[in-house]
Amino acid sequence: MDYGDYEGVMGLEVHAHLLTNSKIFCGCSTVFGAEPNSHTCPTCMGLPGALPVLNKKVVDFAIKLGLALHCGISNKSIFARKNYYYPDLPKGYQISQYEEPICTNGYLDIYADGERKRIRVNRVHMEEDAGKLVHENTIETSSYSMVDYNRSSTPLLEIVSEPDIATPEEAVIYLKVLRDILLYLEICDGNMEEGSFRCDANVSVRKKGTQELGTRTEMKNLNSFRHVEKSLDYEIKRQIEVIKKGGQIVQETRLFNVDEGVTYSMRGKEEAHDYRYFPEPDLLPLTVDDGWIEEIRKTLPELPAEKMERFMTEYNLPKYDVEILVSDRELAHYFEETIKLFPEAKTVSNWIMTELLRELKDGNISPKDSPITPARLAELLTLIKDGTISIKIAKEIFPEMYKAGASPKKLIEEKGLTQISDESAIIKTIDEVIARSPKETAEFRAGKEKLLGFFVGQVMKETKGKANPKLLNELLLKRLKGE
Ligand SMILES: [Zn+2]
Repeated sequence: MDYGDYEGVMGLEVHAHLLTNSKIFCGCSTVFGAEPNSHTCPTCMGLPGALPVLNKKVVDFAIKLGLALHCGISNKSIFARKNYYYPDLPKGYQISQYEEPICTNGYLDIYADGERKRIRVNRVHMEEDAGKLVHENTIETSSYSMVDYNRSSTPLLEIVSEPDIATPEEAVIYLKVLRDILLYLEICDGNMEEGSFRCDANVSVRKKGTQELGTRTEMKNLNSFRHVEKSLDYEIKRQIEVIKKGGQIVQETRLFNVDEGVTYSMRGKEEAHDYRYFPEPDLLPLTVDDGWIEEIRKTLPELPAEKMERFMTEYNLPKYDVEILVSDRELAHYFEETIKLFPEAKTVSNWIMTELLRELKDGNISPKDSPITPARLAELLTLIKDGTISIKIAKEIFPEMYKAGASPKKLIEEKGLTQISDESAIIKTIDEVIARSPKETAEFRAGKEKLLGFFVGQVMKETKGKANPKLLNELLLKRLKGE
């Protein structure tokens, strides 16, 4: 998007719920959707005297993400209390990290408008989530609120970028790339609807060519890529309008109203000192030695950016294909399993991107649960290649293979769909068609060659689409030319 003389300046704060079995400072379960307040204990309820014990898995995951984002991993980091009151926060403070977070100074590369752009990551830190308030419709109109503390103290990583993002499109690309990394690392399910991947954005604008940062507003709880794009675009335009009219941007927190497509002021923005951060007295400083970091480094999988590079060079696939295949780790795996059995990358990629993805999306099925396994897809492609069936037939039986999880070989045998590659059988049908089409035959022989399509159509109709198309073309030309 273009904003004339102005440009947007945005930094994103992403909260990612971690896929640990238990909470960050107690043994309570983190399973989503349980009976309200059934996964709680004195620690996550903040009862006096209850002490937190750090979940090691959370540290493992934080290091893992830090390494994937090229951050430095601190050998010593500190937990801090962020003090504020809200009914979903029974302790009256949130345990987070402030001055000495576990990961600092990383980056993430995105491709926007065909160019690589580096977005710096200021920090990644560990913290606990708050509980959840439940009310009828909106908090402003509801006559009551209920609170569910199941989410209280579930582990989060907060990923804070530098203000290197200039457009809403870049923000969405950054979020998608970050989400892919979390999914590849298997530390977060990336589910935006359930709130396991949430984003706040700091937005300001400035005249193009200037470096100074303007006053920023914070947009809270953007919970879908579409909302991110729409709300940031709205907010940038709003700020430009205010400045053009000679007004001042007020530092505040704003909410995006999805139905109206506009942002509203929610409250004046807090400064860090409003939270009176201080080191958490119930937890020791966290020491992470180099051995621990190296252990985690060994568990890092191939990340999306590396996989994209490899798919382009190893399989010689276009960027468009690679982006789709790599966007889902399971899909990339599916592709590579199929390639082992049918080593024609572009053909496999085409079938996955069109036929397979259509079926998977219709049923919202993960590639790893696809009823058509890589072996079955390879079997189908082999049948096309050796001339047993035409591409047309293959596409026709694909949905049935999918529904029944059936072998394509069995399916075409049962249905008698095997391609006719027997010359004499095809010639017989050709001759019948020529015999009953004297007018078209004469015209073709007089030079109207585009009538070939007519003859192909007639023979295909007679053979129910089963004539081997290449052979049919050759034989038709011969017969029509009277050879
Ligand atoms: Zn608990």
